[in-house]
Amino acid sequence: MSFKKLNLDEALLKALETQGYDTPTPIQKQAIPVVLSGKDLLGVAQTGTGKTAAFGLPILQLLNEKKFSGKGVRSLILTPTRELAIQIDESLAAYGKHTRLKHSVIFGGVSQHSQVEKLKRGVDILVATPGRLLDLMNQGFINLKTLEIFVLDEADRMLDMGFIHDVKKVIKSLPEKRQTLFFSATMPDEIQNLAKMMLKNPVKVEV
Ligand code: AMP
Repeated sequence: MSFKKLNLDEALLKALETQGYDTPTPIQKQAIPVVLSGKDLLGVAQTGTGKTAAFGLPILQLLNEKKFSGKGVRSLILTPTRELAIQIDESLAAYGKHTRLKHSVIFGGVSQHSQVEKLKRGVDILVATPGRLLDLMNQGFINLKTLEIFVLDEADRMLDMGFIHDVKKVIKSLPEKRQTLFFSATMPDEIQNLAKMMLKNPVKVEV
């Protein structure tokens, strides 16, 4: 099976060719059609399975199809660590290099100045860690009213790292009408409850 069979646009296929990907991984095969159809997704998958492309590719395609003139964030990807945030942002740069979508990454432990400057220029897809996101939201630099697609990445690690309270605060500020993609390597009770609260009729994909 090829990426072409997953109905991905030429702009993305070209980027995947450059990346040297020719076959979708199991999570990509299962998740990409679900995300493209607009449904909510519960993905039980670990890092290393190709999950970044499983959500990144269809998000790039969905946002690239619809023209949008506003300046608000259209997709937010929340991830627990700075390293993961940077990796996801780099993947978006590679997969989206033939689109005109703008992406950016924010995380704590560094000056907020350059992150804020980038936000001011407009960002379609924002990759963030929870603390810095809430901080910049509270300062009025981020507006999530225009959000269309929300990704919660590594939900179980958010819990382990003590970020679950921050995650819940972020969720409260999102529009009710949105598509939500929820990823976790494991599904303990607390994570199952969180998924239930956030997702509407999700399709479950497990690898
Ligand atoms: P991830 O689970 O998203 O962190 O991806 C793990 C690694 O697999 C990354 O280095 C990706 O670049 C690579 N990767 C993801 N999807 C594919 C694919 N379909 N073919 C080859 N490599 C891939």
